[in-house]
Amino acid sequence: MGKIRFLIGLWAAKMSIPVMRITGHNATNYPGQIAINICPDFLDHIGKPEHIISVTGTNGKTTVNNMIMDMFDAMGKKVLSNRAGSNTRTGITTALLKGANIWGKPKYDTAVFETDERSTLRIFPWVKPEYVLVTNLFRDSIMRNGHPEFIGDILTANIPRTSKLILNGDDLISVSISPENKRVYYGIDRLDTDLTECINLINDIRICPKCSGKLKYDYLRYHHIGRAHCEDCGFSSPEYDYAGRNIDYDKKTVTIADKNGSGVYSMVNDSIFNIYNMVAITALFREMGYPHEKIVEAMKHSKVVESRYKLVEENGVRIITQLAKEKNALAISRAFDYIKDVPGEKTVLLMMNCLYDEEHWSENTCWMYDCDFEFLNRDDIKEIVVSGPRARDYRLRLLFAGVPEEKIKLMPDELEGARRIDMKKGTAVCVFHGVDSFDLTQEVRKILVERAGKLEG
Ligand SMILES: [Zn+2]
Repeated sequence: MGKIRFLIGLWAAKMSIPVMRITGHNATNYPGQIAINICPDFLDHIGKPEHIISVTGTNGKTTVNNMIMDMFDAMGKKVLSNRAGSNTRTGITTALLKGANIWGKPKYDTAVFETDERSTLRIFPWVKPEYVLVTNLFRDSIMRNGHPEFIGDILTANIPRTSKLILNGDDLISVSISPENKRVYYGIDRLDTDLTECINLINDIRICPKCSGKLKYDYLRYHHIGRAHCEDCGFSSPEYDYAGRNIDYDKKTVTIADKNGSGVYSMVNDSIFNIYNMVAITALFREMGYPHEKIVEAMKHSKVVESRYKLVEENGVRIITQLAKEKNALAISRAFDYIKDVPGEKTVLLMMNCLYDEEHWSENTCWMYDCDFEFLNRDDIKEIVVSGPRARDYRLRLLFAGVPEEKIKLMPDELEGARRIDMKKGTAVCVFHGVDSFDLTQEVRKILVERAGKLEG
């Protein structure tokens, strides 16, 4: 009976795919939902590729997942993935049923799945990854994710004991996941820009995970990313198996080394979190047995999705749009921190939104007080326009950050904000937008570019 029910679920789901395409729907989630509705233990029955890689973590998992897929493509290897689909149970179910024949047998030998941390509970009992790559664990949306140790515990409870972990050795929360599993650590050697005291509002790990003594940071990069030791019990950050070093921002290269060799890699993007992504991916491919030369070559074909950051120069004005993932205090702090690297005078437009559905729920705004809005309190930022449904909350938060009131302009309508923000030749306009407003951001950019084009003098 179970088998028949599974096949009916599989066929119904497969038949729904062309129907959805004809009707203009994105068939990345719904077919999986159909399959699960008909056969609740569908994931148990569906054939799976022999090698499964799962990419999870708070920040960067989509980027890493897509880079890995770009690299397999460049190597000419056909791999199943949930790219462009959802990273929850229905999204991965959809990918698996698309990657199986009509009898449910897998057509691929390898799969790469971006996996939502909390969904591992409903995925890993049946889809057992050979490798689990964790980018990092940070405080995220509090209403959804609680705190990072809670997410770490979910991963520990659900990652199969047979999975090999690829972990960020500079992130002591990730390091503590699934202590019994085989693992390798990656990280980036000390940088000139590292600090010894945390300048961010949030450092999610201040006490020793072993004895609860006070942790001493040998150096800190941002938040809790860095290396620490405990003077009470001797606990310390692990040695790296894969280390990023000799970062050359002029040549845009980074050396990634392990005990059997090293390679000089071209930077995909020069932000430090993307260098972490590169080292993590290199560790994964090395573990799979690829030589550095082959990984270096393949990585040249991977790219970071443009929608996260875009610079347009128009008539002497630099217009920068930067993704600042709303509700995720750490991701926004990283984005705000970047502004110190934008030379010259600038104005800022904040248009992140965390009020998706005014009738039903809204995120608690406490994340704004975990986020380093203080980084926007700079003399070279001449004006900050706050817009969107949270405009007043942003205004209040900026006042708490010490930004002079006369610098803040309240413009709840984003397009109006774009029309009214101060703009001068030789300066930059920095727009911070959320994940769900790419269309609106494009309109805002269009208005800014048009205005810049008309500037005289
Ligand atoms: Zn200790």
